[in-house]
Amino acid sequence: MTRKENLSYQILDGKAVSDKIRAELKSRVAALGAKSPPVLATILVGNNPASETYVKMKGKACESIGLTSKKVQLPGITTTDMLLRIIDECNADPQIRGILLQHPSPAQIDERAAFDRIAIEKDVDGVTAFGFGRMSLGIPSYPACTPAGIMRLLDAYNVKLAGLHAVVVGRSPILGKPMAQLLLNRDCTITVCHSKTKDLPEHVKQADLVVAACGKPAFIQGEWIKPGAIVVDAGYNPGNIGDVDFNGCAQRASYITPVPGGVGPMTITMLLAHTVESAEKAK
Ligand code: NAP
Repeated sequence: MTRKENLSYQILDGKAVSDKIRAELKSRVAALGAKSPPVLATILVGNNPASETYVKMKGKACESIGLTSKKVQLPGITTTDMLLRIIDECNADPQIRGILLQHPSPAQIDERAAFDRIAIEKDVDGVTAFGFGRMSLGIPSYPACTPAGIMRLLDAYNVKLAGLHAVVVGRSPILGKPMAQLLLNRDCTITVCHSKTKDLPEHVKQADLVVAACGKPAFIQGEWIKPGAIVVDAGYNPGNIGDVDFNGCAQRASYITPVPGGVGPMTITMLLAHTVESAEKAK
């Protein structure tokens, strides 16, 4: 059966949901009535081409809702101390309402120290250990943008999460781990899988909700999906390929995210939403 022949699944359309949220955010930025718009500072160390592209995309997204994006480009030889000083300057600048340190940093940088230097009220990308702890405890915080975007997308389709067995494939600090915590806080029962997990398909087969976040193109197979399960593909690999075999998984899923147009737009939208919220709080 091809994708078009199976009409029983519903697409979780991250592009459409994002567009709606961004329109609301634009009004909220206008309502701030600021003489100069709030700023999202994006710090980029070195010149990794993929990171350059992401920073450019984030800059354009900021402008589209009336925020200013300030790109701080640092040379690849930047030391941790130099980076910490730059972060301190951004923390002290009242116009800057959000700080994003683009991952990955060059090897000589202590990235954890740099992330943790970001003031909690400007940690709009959810990278500080303090922010992670607050998010895990269900205390107001800005969760990492990709898992936050997935939660907003599921909510936009009124997916009832309580009681679902969610299997998260991946445990990175920006995606798998916060995803598991957010789902746990919404009363899901959680299994977190990773590269050392034995018999991954058997775990995925138990899932009412699968979140694929392993960075392996088209890795999650249709025959692993329990009929009627919800499939969220957080993956983004070269060639616009997710971590899920879409055609195979759509044959069994009730809801599924496409790549592109699923989780990706929601991630950037959450970055914007967190920055706007930070600006509102500062006001
Ligand atoms: P990452 O840091 O490389 O983490 C990958 C995770 O997957 C690790 O926990 C790893 O396990 C696990 N893994 C690797 N191979 C596996 C296997 N064979 N079976 C089970 N688990 C396995 O990647 P990430 O930053 O979390 O990103 C994951 C994916 O999401 C990538 O495709 C990335 O491009 C995408 N992403 C998308 C967005 C977006 O906006 N849409 C944002 C961020 C990331 P170990 O911990 O044992 O190594």
